[in-house]
Amino acid sequence: MTSPRTIAILGSTGSIGRSALEVIAGFPDRFRAVYLSANRNIDLLRDQINRFRPKGVVVSDPERAAALRSSVGHGVEIMCGAEGLLEAAGRDDVDVVLSSLVGFAGLKPTLRAVEAGKVVALANKETLVVGGELIMKSVRAGRARLLPVDSEHSAIFQCLQGEDPRTIERLVLTASGGPFLKVGKEKFPGITVAEALNHPTWRMGNKITIDSATLMNKGLEVIEAFWLFGVPPEKIQVVIHPQSIVHSMVEFVDGSMKAQLGIPDMKLPILYALAYPERPATASRRIDFETLRELTFYPPDTEKFECLPLAFRALQMGGTAPAVLNAANEVAVQMFLDGELSFSAIPFVIRDALNAHTPMHAFTLADLERIDGDTRERTRRVQATLLT
Ligand code: MG
Repeated sequence: MTSPRTIAILGSTGSIGRSALEVIAGFPDRFRAVYLSANRNIDLLRDQINRFRPKGVVVSDPERAAALRSSVGHGVEIMCGAEGLLEAAGRDDVDVVLSSLVGFAGLKPTLRAVEAGKVVALANKETLVVGGELIMKSVRAGRARLLPVDSEHSAIFQCLQGEDPRTIERLVLTASGGPFLKVGKEKFPGITVAEALNHPTWRMGNKITIDSATLMNKGLEVIEAFWLFGVPPEKIQVVIHPQSIVHSMVEFVDGSMKAQLGIPDMKLPILYALAYPERPATASRRIDFETLRELTFYPPDTEKFECLPLAFRALQMGGTAPAVLNAANEVAVQMFLDGELSFSAIPFVIRDALNAHTPMHAFTLADLERIDGDTRERTRRVQATLLT
């Protein structure tokens, strides 16, 4: 028997990280979690340490590291901060790095994992949105393999098995439409945080749930698909599919179309990425046609959901424009969650940032960090002046 695949989970206390540990717990002969990381949720990380006995963990700051060290004892290495994440992402005793941090913070450790030649199971879409050019160049130059965890991209990746990528005519990304699919745009200014966090089909973290409510999540996924599959923006289409059963589709040059279906549960794409190219058997819930009855599809309302066309625009602008889109969105979403910005102002803030930006090529990580920092600073400043 071969030894288990060793896995570093960057972001093990988040929604994807917790699902990944459930998957790993179901296959002890196949997978072993060797490094975990948490930002703030130290209590959950302590539980994960006791249950999974990793070799090491990463926590965000020295105080939390000290608190953890006194309660878990020896035998578990405790690393700290951004440096600790880079360390865990590049360790020799790691086969697979599951990149499930939220937002721009995922870029640097993911790049490190790619440079170290790891299998990278990518759940952090912002990494490709911001640094797609840099990451893909590094993937092509080295031994790393990028496997998508995002359900839509996992679906496309599964549809492409055994196919020649040059025969792709169109990628069709499905979107649930979020909680405001049937809410009129005139109601958008009064949408509350609780309403926006109430997603109809997926249980996820706060940032991605707000992104799903604005459809920015789908916009980010269009950019992610562009980099993962090398398909130009005009061949990537978004279709609303409220049941979230068809996870995405690929149309080929002969007019034939393949779709991947499954219940909406992130454990499915996580398992596919961790076990690839094998497909282990599970006892997960199956699609039941007695209760399912219908699958519906229709085009998105891009006048109502302005974030989706903004993402296409950033992709067409190219260069650093998607990094600006992402930074402005991260700031706007956090401000909305903090009660400092209305739901309807989110696309306004992002459009303003794109309008002010002249795209250039980002050749280094430092370029991207500067653009990200400048956009965040500018977005907060512009909003502060609007609010006073
Ligand atoms: Mg997705």
